[in-house]
Amino acid sequence: MSAHAPLTEEETWRRITEAGIQTLRIPTPFAVGRVNCYLLEDDPLTLIDAGPNSGKALDELEQQLEALGHRIEDLELVILTHQHIDHLGLVDIVARRSGAEVAAIDVVVPFVGRFGEDSELEDEQAAELMLAHGIPEDMVGVLATVSRSFRAWGSKVTVTRPLRDGETLKLAGRSLEVQLRPGHSPSDTCFWDAERGILIAADHLIKHISSNPLISRALDGSGERRQALVEYIESLKLTRELPAEIILAGHGEPVTDHVALIDERFALHQRRAEKIYRLIAEESRSGYEVAQALWGNVAVTQAFLTLSEVIGHVDLLINAGHVREREEDSLVRFEATAATPPEELGDLISGGNRGEEKG
Ligand SMILES: [Zn+2]
Repeated sequence: MSAHAPLTEEETWRRITEAGIQTLRIPTPFAVGRVNCYLLEDDPLTLIDAGPNSGKALDELEQQLEALGHRIEDLELVILTHQHIDHLGLVDIVARRSGAEVAAIDVVVPFVGRFGEDSELEDEQAAELMLAHGIPEDMVGVLATVSRSFRAWGSKVTVTRPLRDGETLKLAGRSLEVQLRPGHSPSDTCFWDAERGILIAADHLIKHISSNPLISRALDGSGERRQALVEYIESLKLTRELPAEIILAGHGEPVTDHVALIDERFALHQRRAEKIYRLIAEESRSGYEVAQALWGNVAVTQAFLTLSEVIGHVDLLINAGHVREREEDSLVRFEATAATPPEELGDLISGGNRGEEKG
């Protein structure tokens, strides 16, 4: 365990500046607000994520680079942290204008290379999943339309430099260890500067919101459903072990006490799984019924997001043997396997929030 007290805000920003890292806050049309892109003033001049594909985002990217004495044309390397459109939309445009290399984790290369087609497949799989878990057909139709309209903020990306998990990306002034940390998306990649104790983590860990482990199509195209929350918790356990002093997130402020923050998140997921178990133990329910019981109307307006949350936590309960799935007229219902009281479910995060004992 780190013996250091978390850095003060002033100290944090001093360390980030000394590391030659500039934060560019690029507007997005999404509820999450601006996305943080990071400029590494190093050789090669490197941009991490580029913002969504819009004229407004491109203008701001140009202006913010200019304020730091750079132009898009000066960029030599663009790194993509994951497949979401608020991060990848401008990558191709920026790379074309600058001639920069584009680096991304190898597993995401086919997906971003066929962005439009694969997003369509992803939506089809999401629609099937929503119908199977009880979301009404007309709602699924509306959501598909919304998703299609959002797609214009994305773009395909041609990756010229695929990265392997665990490899070291060397710049003149730093070494970054490439860490594949799936969960929030199947391609979440963190970049670890061990010398400075700085992790560039994008949406893997965000200070003010818990990252949604969105259910997503398997990147190998297998059609198999990933256990997004289970994967996410495993990824967080690895990040928890890092002696990181500063974590730079894809949205919001830097994280300086990641162990405490990750433990908070583990506790939240444990509580939420217990709540969901209580509902399922009362009576067997579909995923949509659970989401409605927990979040009311939000389960309607944010149907896919809330269903992802429910299924993620039910995965934890199924893996621990407390809940099973039963299919009835092509509708999936969840039921308790035994009469275990909710307070006796035990630790569903399996050791994740007991890290203190490991020292
Ligand atoms: Zn994301």
